[in-house]
Amino acid sequence: MSFTTSERISSIPFSNIREIFEEAKRMEKLGSDIIHMEIGRPDFDTPEHIKKAANLALENGHVHYTSNNGIMELREAIAQKLWQENKIKIDPENEVAVSIGCKEAIFNTVFAFINPGDEVLIQDPSWLEYQYIVKLAGGIPVPIPLYAEDGFVMNPEILRQNITNKTRMMIINSPHNPTGSVLPKNVLEEIASIAIEYDLLVISDEIYEKLIYDDSEHVSLASLPGMFERTVTINGFSKAYAMDGWRLGYAAGHVELMKPIVKMHQYNTSSATSFAQYGAVEAYKGSQEDVNQMVKEFDKRRKFMMERIKAMPLTESVNPSGAFYIFPSFKKTGLSSVEMAKRILTEVNIACVPGSAFGEQGEGHIRFAYSTSMEEIKKGMDRLEEFLVRF
Ligand code: PMP
Repeated sequence: MSFTTSERISSIPFSNIREIFEEAKRMEKLGSDIIHMEIGRPDFDTPEHIKKAANLALENGHVHYTSNNGIMELREAIAQKLWQENKIKIDPENEVAVSIGCKEAIFNTVFAFINPGDEVLIQDPSWLEYQYIVKLAGGIPVPIPLYAEDGFVMNPEILRQNITNKTRMMIINSPHNPTGSVLPKNVLEEIASIAIEYDLLVISDEIYEKLIYDDSEHVSLASLPGMFERTVTINGFSKAYAMDGWRLGYAAGHVELMKPIVKMHQYNTSSATSFAQYGAVEAYKGSQEDVNQMVKEFDKRRKFMMERIKAMPLTESVNPSGAFYIFPSFKKTGLSSVEMAKRILTEVNIACVPGSAFGEQGEGHIRFAYSTSMEEIKKGMDRLEEFLVRF
C-alpha cells in the first residue's frame, strides 16, 4: 500500500521512548527481571467504592451517550470540588466539559483556539504531548527552559522574553511531569500578570494536584484575580484516583472559553463513557481515604529514593515536591540521556525514560517513576548504585 499520510501526521514522530519500552519488553520475554520505573501511572487498583459505583451504573442501564458536557451529577461534583479545593467558581451547566482523559481536553482546547502559525509557550522539559498536539493544530511550540538550579520552577522573566506578536497561549503544568516541581503562588502570580499584560490564553494542566508533598501547596491559576476569563483548567481522574484506564478528564473555564471547546469535543468524541462518569462522581463525592493512603505511600517512596540517589556517585537531583517522578541529572557521566537509559536497561535491568524525550532541557537527565512497589524500588536503587559505582 502506498497511501501518503497527511502532512499534519507526518510532521510529528512516534514517541521516541518507544525504542526503550520495546527493548524492555523484548528482554522481559527472554527472562530478564526488569524493574519498571518508566510508566507514568499509579500501580494501585482503582478504589473499590468507585468501581462499585460504575458497576451499579452499568446494571442500572446507564449505557448510552450522555450529554456532551457530561452527566449533570458529575458536572455538579466537579463544580463543587473546584470551588471548595481550588477556589474556582464555575457554572456546572456550561462551564465544564467531561472528556476522554485530560489528553482529549487539552487536544480540544488547543484545536479550539490555535490557528496555523500561532505560538504556544510550553515548559521545557514537559509532557511530550503538548508540543505534538500544538503541532497537529498547526501551531508553533515555543519552549520555556526550566533549570535544575531553579528547582525546575519557571522563571517568569524567561517566559516574558519568549513572547512575540504571534504568542497566543501558554500551557502550564504544576505539579510537573517530568520533574515533580510545584509552582509556588508568587511565581504563579507573576505568570498571571504576564498572561494579562500580553492577553494570552492559558491551559493549566493540574492532573497531579493531589500528589503533593512536604509543605508545598497547589494553587490553581484560574483562582488568581483576572485569570478565570483566560484560563482553561484541565484535570481528571487518572493519577490521584488510579483511574487512568477509565479515560476520564475535564476542561473547566469561563463559558465563552468553553463554547468552542465543547464544539470540538462534539466532533471529537461526543461524550465520555457513560458508566465511567458515574464512577467519577463517587471518586469526588465519596471517601478520600484511599487517595490519602496512596499519597502517603508515594511520599514514602519519594523520600526513600531521594535518600538513596543523593548518596550515589555521578548523579544529582532536585528534590521533587509533587507528582510521582524523580528527574536526576547524570551529566557527570558524560553520556546522553538515551545512552544512559539504554545502559541502565541493558546492564542493570531498570526501565526508565531518557530526559531528552521531554525536551532539550531534559538532556542529561533520566525520569524514574516511583509508581511501583517499595520492594521493586529498593531493588532498583541497589542496581542503580551498583551501576554508578562501577561506571
Ligand atoms: N497531563 C500530564 C502532565 C500527564 O503526565 C498525563 C499522563 N501521563 C496526562 C495529562 C494525561 O492524563 P489523562 O490520562 O487524563 O489523559
